Amino acid sequence: MEETIQLTGDLRRNPTRSVRVGDMTIGGGNPIVVQSMAATRTQDIEATVRQVKLLEAAGADLVRVAVDSRKDVEALATVREQTEAPLSVDLQENYRLCTQVAPHVDKIRYNPGHLHHHERSKSVREKVAFVAETAAEYDCAIRVGVNCGSIDPRMLERYPNDHVSAIVASASEHCGLLDEFSFDRYVVSIKDSDWKQVVEANQKFAEERPDVPLHLGVTEAGMPPEGVIKTRVAFEQLVSQGIGDTVRVSLTVPFDDKGMEIHVAREILSDIAAGRFRSVPPKFDEGLNIISCPSCSRVENEKFVDLAQDVKAMTEYASEYDITIAVMGCRVNGPGETDDADLGLWCGPLAVNLKRGEESLGHYPYDEILPRLKQELDAIIEDRR
Ligand code: SF4
Repeated sequence: MEETIQLTGDLRRNPTRSVRVGDMTIGGGNPIVVQSMAATRTQDIEATVRQVKLLEAAGADLVRVAVDSRKDVEALATVREQTEAPLSVDLQENYRLCTQVAPHVDKIRYNPGHLHHHERSKSVREKVAFVAETAAEYDCAIRVGVNCGSIDPRMLERYPNDHVSAIVASASEHCGLLDEFSFDRYVVSIKDSDWKQVVEANQKFAEERPDVPLHLGVTEAGMPPEGVIKTRVAFEQLVSQGIGDTVRVSLTVPFDDKGMEIHVAREILSDIAAGRFRSVPPKFDEGLNIISCPSCSRVENEKFVDLAQDVKAMTEYASEYDITIAVMGCRVNGPGETDDADLGLWCGPLAVNLKRGEESLGHYPYDEILPRLKQELDAIIEDRR
């Protein structure tokens, strides 16, 4: 078993509610729960069990697994039999599967921004009621997981120029619904790929709902070391203010290195507890910014991590330009979460989709995407000269 770093010193938390997740408690002044997510295909049972065990051995308190289909549910049931690790399930838009996954897990995550895709005749309220009833029946907690790339369209209409208010309002609305249904075993996450927005949104939410435990994370933080730095500065700002009851560090690293997410999280928390803060390196927020998802079961081609690393290496020459390139692993979050980037890539099974802002530029085989990306990058640089 790998060595884990224990929290030391004082990490006093805000007095949020205690939310029981299996045998552990999130919030209520308890130690911060460190979690991660399996990046393997859930239906590859052997790989997923190995990934869950790897994360557990690295010190994960809770491991999330993505489920998108009935076959994933069957695989999850087998994974459950082969590990004792506390499991959480990530449903994104597939909330209808919650009755089937709930018996196997301790926590269910749904995304408010994805509740409009299916069963359009049903209201969001009915869908949340269904998830809450199911969670209560199977003794599960819930995470309301709001994400910058998939904001509820109603909230975007209400706050067209205020991204932070839109994501905070979406989280608050769902807390209100769960409160109405008398379901109180829930936590909230409000994630963004921009660490400053993560800080602002979580501070705003913590002021509005000081009772609700928060799950912190910078989504699509990217590869080390930048992904680690973005996460560290966000956690330093929030955790030192008592905000945050559970954390996940999202890094784009190969499956076998996923334990790094746990080690980095514990190291950051340990440093904050000991008062060891690191300032943001000068000019950290200037120049080329590559954001990339940490990958999960939904990743559409295992070349994704290599692609992210190749994009980083290939674009090195543009490091002084304020350009954001997003590299995403799948169609669930890829199309939306690349909208705000100057250039976006999201993986399909055989080809990579390329975007410039919100405009689609077509899809290209994996061995042709880098020169095509370079062409677009050069065009942007030329425009800015
Ligand atoms: S973009 Fe897709 S593959 Fe990447 S972490 Fe999100 S859901 Fe998983």
